Amino acid sequence: MTEKFEALLLTKTETGQAVAWTELSDADLMPGDVTVRVTHSTVNYKDGLAITGKAPVVRRWPMVPGIDFAGVVESSSHPDFTPGDEVVLNGWGTSETHLGGYAQFSRVKGEWLVPLPAGLSRADAMAIGTAGYTAMLCVLALEAHGVTPDKGPVLVTGASGGVGSVAVALLSKLGFTVHASTGRPEEEGYLKSLGASEIVARQELSAPGKPLGRERWAGAVDSVGSHTLANVLAQTKYGGTVAACGLAQGLDLPASVAPFILRGVTLAGIDSVMAPKAKRLEAWARLAQDLDRAKLAALTTTHSWKDAVTLAEDILAGKVRGRVVLEVA
Ligand code: NDP
Repeated sequence: MTEKFEALLLTKTETGQAVAWTELSDADLMPGDVTVRVTHSTVNYKDGLAITGKAPVVRRWPMVPGIDFAGVVESSSHPDFTPGDEVVLNGWGTSETHLGGYAQFSRVKGEWLVPLPAGLSRADAMAIGTAGYTAMLCVLALEAHGVTPDKGPVLVTGASGGVGSVAVALLSKLGFTVHASTGRPEEEGYLKSLGASEIVARQELSAPGKPLGRERWAGAVDSVGSHTLANVLAQTKYGGTVAACGLAQGLDLPASVAPFILRGVTLAGIDSVMAPKAKRLEAWARLAQDLDRAKLAALTTTHSWKDAVTLAEDILAGKVRGRVVLEVA
């Protein structure tokens, strides 16, 4: 490992926080039994929140942001990893309490790492990233609750975003009729190319609604929360399931219990950060199997990691379509 390496560093200031590129050394890395040379990272919504300081994601200062990375093992005292192994990391407190992926090197616990699944490159793994892995966790939850294509259409909210785009691609490959809710009508062609058959205008779902509505969807992947999630629950078919993973509209849930007690609807909560390793391995194996590579390429744009700060602002402004790969120089 080189003496010094480059990283993006968040520091706490009297007025909030500052962000700057800096040089770190091995001594700055945190405890762990595997050191990884990071080659790719990405920009998720949570990275936007951390870098801009718009939500208190960071709980240790200074902090290297980046909730995920792909890379090559540089050194390891963990029995499962040897130098040269290709690995992926999602969550586990990176960018919160542990230095994250926007650095040329990272030291983590081996138990946090997932071996790069066969058939995926490191760039593919970050095109998927935490957003795509979370989309797969949502699909697994729908499957576990018996949502199958014959039960009726499924809805994806925030469909042009990272979680949403991957969810649309996955569900359509699995044979579902997919309805995509978006606030960007100009992305209709994009969403249909990923496999959506119908577009639902964001405003149809984002305003306060009734406790129960017409039964429209057998299941849903919701990355938006707030009134949108309440309205999706109210319009889920009898016995259906909604996988809730996000808060792009808001952290609140102004809903009633009517869908639960009158229609037996299930609200399945999805967390990617502390998900157990077996669930991660299942999700990554299913992504390698079920995510159409041409669609993954179509929903991905590639940038230098030096664009991370600009992209952090863009993603919070809803300007990023699909997924972004950052190439770490
Ligand atoms: P993106 O910004 O890529 O996607 C979010 C999408 O939500 C946007 O593209 C937009 O889609 C829609 N949206 C944005 N603002 C609003 C609004 N005010 N009202 C309604 N819809 C809105 O983010 P990610 O895909 O990376 O993450 C999505 C959400 O999932 C985030 O809240 C994130 O924190 C959460 N998440 C949670 C995880 C977990 O472990 N539970 C893991 C990963 C993500 P469109 O333009 O199509 O309407």
